[in-house]
Amino acid sequence: MRLILLGPPGAGKGTQAQRLVERHGIPQLSTGDMLRAAVQAGTEVGKRAKAVMDAGELVSDAIVNAIVAERIDQPDCARGFILDGYPRTLVQADAVESMLSERGIGLDTVVELVVDDRALVGRIVKRADDAKASGQPVRKDDNPAVFEERLREYYKKTAPLTGYYYAKGKLKTVDGMASIDAVTAEIEAVLAAAAKAR
Ligand code: AMP
Repeated sequence: MRLILLGPPGAGKGTQAQRLVERHGIPQLSTGDMLRAAVQAGTEVGKRAKAVMDAGELVSDAIVNAIVAERIDQPDCARGFILDGYPRTLVQADAVESMLSERGIGLDTVVELVVDDRALVGRIVKRADDAKASGQPVRKDDNPAVFEERLREYYKKTAPLTGYYYAKGKLKTVDGMASIDAVTAEIEAVLAAAAKAR
């Protein structure tokens, strides 16, 4: 199964992706996690991405496309994967199409988590508080000021992807304001329906 999770920052993509990993045994490919790992490791990519990420802006398409293209060739992706936080621009969406068609594979479904913007900043603040409380590092971009920029970037560059995938007949929307368990159940129902339709 190859799946894209769409939605603004704080919509719950990461949480739901982790549940899908457990249930379906396919990896979560989070470009945010990969970029943070690169920053942590001090690689060339990490050095170029750090300031952009700290400001809440998007890293260049060329960088993220290259990271994902390399990642999907790893053996653990052979049975499928969940793209979390990628693609985030139309250029990236076109890159996904090319990457998959070059490998003779396709995309099964795009699930959009639909959320109320007003709830998002509260979720981000909670994520930062939870990280702090459990002794984990707090993401530099999980604060209200940077969050506003992340949301602006989302509307400018990522929101058009819903139309892109809708036009391709791939888009399924899920109520991201429901409880975590209810969202998981709704995603599973969407995936089951998509599998049946194949
Ligand atoms: P995330 O963990 O998905 O919220 O991503 C954190 C940050 O990493 C974003 O605010 C961007 O700066 C960068 N990032 C993650 N994924 C992408 C992407 N697909 N395209 C561009 N930048 C990205």
